[in-house]
Amino acid sequence: MNVRAHIEAVHTEVCRRNPGEAEFHQAATEVLDSLTPALERHPEYAETGILERLCEPERQLMFRVPWVDDQGKVRVNRGFRVEFNSALGPYKGGLRFHPSVNLGIVKFLGFEQIFKNALTGMAIGGGKGGSDFDPKGRSDGEVMRFCQSFMTELHRHLGEHTDVPAGDIGVGGREIGYLFGQYKRITNRYESGVLTGKPVGWGGSHARTEATGYGAVYFAQEMLTTRGYGFEGRRVVVSGSGNVAVYAAEKVHALGGRVVACSDSSGYLVDEDGIDLELLKDIKEVRRARISAYAEAKPTARFSARGTVYDVPCEVALPSATQNELGREDAVALVKNGVLAIAEGANMPCTPEAVEVFREAGVLFGPGKAANAGGVATSALEMQQNASRDSWSFEETESRLAAVMRGVHTQCRTTAEAYGGNADDYVLGANVAGFLRVADAMTAQGVI
Ligand code: NDP
Repeated sequence: MNVRAHIEAVHTEVCRRNPGEAEFHQAATEVLDSLTPALERHPEYAETGILERLCEPERQLMFRVPWVDDQGKVRVNRGFRVEFNSALGPYKGGLRFHPSVNLGIVKFLGFEQIFKNALTGMAIGGGKGGSDFDPKGRSDGEVMRFCQSFMTELHRHLGEHTDVPAGDIGVGGREIGYLFGQYKRITNRYESGVLTGKPVGWGGSHARTEATGYGAVYFAQEMLTTRGYGFEGRRVVVSGSGNVAVYAAEKVHALGGRVVACSDSSGYLVDEDGIDLELLKDIKEVRRARISAYAEAKPTARFSARGTVYDVPCEVALPSATQNELGREDAVALVKNGVLAIAEGANMPCTPEAVEVFREAGVLFGPGKAANAGGVATSALEMQQNASRDSWSFEETESRLAAVMRGVHTQCRTTAEAYGGNADDYVLGANVAGFLRVADAMTAQGVI
């Protein structure tokens, strides 16, 4: 078997069969490009069509979501759920509400999720969903009616042993509450484990809100430790100012680093004193306002609507906003300014060209499927607590999260070393380690 030709053929077929889905092609290319050494050692995976099956979702759902706005006007959005792979457990992955959401984006996210979830070592398969609904500027009542309509269709596909969504961009505790309420009403079941990211008071896990951001920082810390560095005294830039970004910044500060800049879709903010997270949380989580409000409240800070947050010199960068937000030029600027490490809090925020710049410069680079796995890992901990009707303390949950992130980091390095000879190649390590776990399970379960 010519492994390279096989991978190339699968890649060509993925692009042919899924026209116009640029982000899905990008995510599939990144994984497939890494798998040559794994398939050379395990040709049986090529012979049993594992790659072809991995690249084709088990099930893809698209549905109409009609709802009525505050003016009484009927609105129609599109809902998605891609149930990609259940070899390791129920489909698990968040819901994204953002106007840019389309099938290709949901498939890229679902595909990434398969390998990420495998890396955590937990019993969760990969899936993702969402809608092109934009919650920005909508009243709580409008968001509730949208969520109720969305769940009215989606509920028939969910279940704690079947498919378990969580939050993502545009879906936080408020949306999870409305979605859960409608699921409970329709099914007449208080099935706590059907959604994760619930508030702590009624079935949520401590540390789930913080988990993705905290986990990304733990991962970055592990990467820095391999070079004898830590966060103490380091300048850090975080992109975004949502769930992942805010809690990544909080953990950086706890470890003695200083987050000097963050952003949102309207621009970026620099505060040389270190971002005041109470103020930022109030603006983004309570007032749901733009990041420029921070500079209005704190005159020593500077807001810029032009340029990018990556122009701000830093030693660690944590891109935590959205896909393809950090391009080649941003990577060149970061390297020129002396960046030591990048850990992706978001999914695929760095373009392939940017990753190449980091690789050539010898900068430590932690891909999202490893670095941001703490969120889904803690979701799996939430499912465990729901199944046993238990609730663990913040400290206990956080220490389990930290252990998972150390485990993901170690797996990346040992797999990269074993399959490529360079332990610093986290992209290779994450892709191969995730792939092997899923491929083993798929093989054992037969051709399905
Ligand atoms: P949120 O909706 O809480 O925050 C998203 C943030 O990114 C907002 O500040 C938003 O700004 C900003 N943003 C969105 N698009 C752009 C853009 N084009 N340019 C600059 N900023 C932008 O989402 P999350 O924090 O939950 O998710 C962020 C990323 O992390 C996503 O890639 C998500 O898939 C990934 N992720 C999230 C997990 C989680 O547990 N939440 C788990 C693993 C990965 P604005 O307010 O202006 O829209």
